Amino acid sequence: MDRTPRFYMALSLLAAVVTMGIKFVGYLITGSVGLFSDAAESTANLLAALIGLWAVRLAARPADEEHAYGHTKSEYFASGAEGTLILAAAVFIIVEAIPRLFHPQPLEQLNWGIVFSVAGAAINGGLALLMLQAGKRLRSVTLQADAHHLLTDVWTTVGVLVALVLVLFTGWLILDPLIALLVAANIIRVGLGILHSAGLGLLDTALPPDDLERIQEALEPFQRQGVAFHALRTRRSGSRSFASLHVLVPGDWTVQRGHALCEEIELAIDQAVPGCAAMTHLEAREDPAAWNDQGFDR
Ligand SMILES: [Zn+2]
Ligand SMILES: [Zn+2]
Repeated sequence: MDRTPRFYMALSLLAAVVTMGIKFVGYLITGSVGLFSDAAESTANLLAALIGLWAVRLAARPADEEHAYGHTKSEYFASGAEGTLILAAAVFIIVEAIPRLFHPQPLEQLNWGIVFSVAGAAINGGLALLMLQAGKRLRSVTLQADAHHLLTDVWTTVGVLVALVLVLFTGWLILDPLIALLVAANIIRVGLGILHSAGLGLLDTALPPDDLERIQEALEPFQRQGVAFHALRTRRSGSRSFASLHVLVPGDWTVQRGHALCEEIELAIDQAVPGCAAMTHLEAREDPAAWNDQGFDR
């Protein structure tokens, strides 16, 4: 079963609509600020899923004249928007919870509130686990960001549930806004994390160490044959990645032989790190000029 990122984002959209409805009804029945904050976050889910759907559709478009390196970076826009939306939801929760610290509101129909919370958390939790797996398998940062977002929703709901149950047993109404504030703090933590990784992607950060190690391993057989390498540079672009490197061979090789080797190296890198497009630059090993061109500014 090989589903596309689009399928998962559409699923996320559907789940956001359902959980948003469930939680708003729960809030209207109970008046719990915890459930309200939960519902507010689901609204953020809905927007995030719409943006994510757009991003994965754009990312799937093949490279063209105007975007010769593909469209996969669009996923960083989506995860950036996702992080921003989560932070907005957290601010919303804080604004709603603080007045209730000083003027706790009575909660009604707590049993129903608990039922609605559990239903919402079950949907989000199941979907988050599914999307986390799919996000890793499809190397989609949008799916991974959405999954982390959904997981914070589950924690939000767990917090709300704990608050509702505690209020039910103790009658301490202040627990509802207090736990809502804790939930907001957790949402801020996750939101900043998502923004951070989106920023690293937009900044053309090098591939992670384990990918770099795999590239080094792929180059080793060539090095044993006397071929040298330098100026290896890498960057990630959503589900794709790019590497460039200089290939140093004996100067008396024919152009044809050198090119054939470069093709082999590019293929080996693509096999070591799936989706990695490598570009090589052929040089004569004995030529000093070949060794003086490793700076970043050239
Ligand atoms: Zn070629
Ligand atoms: Zn060089």
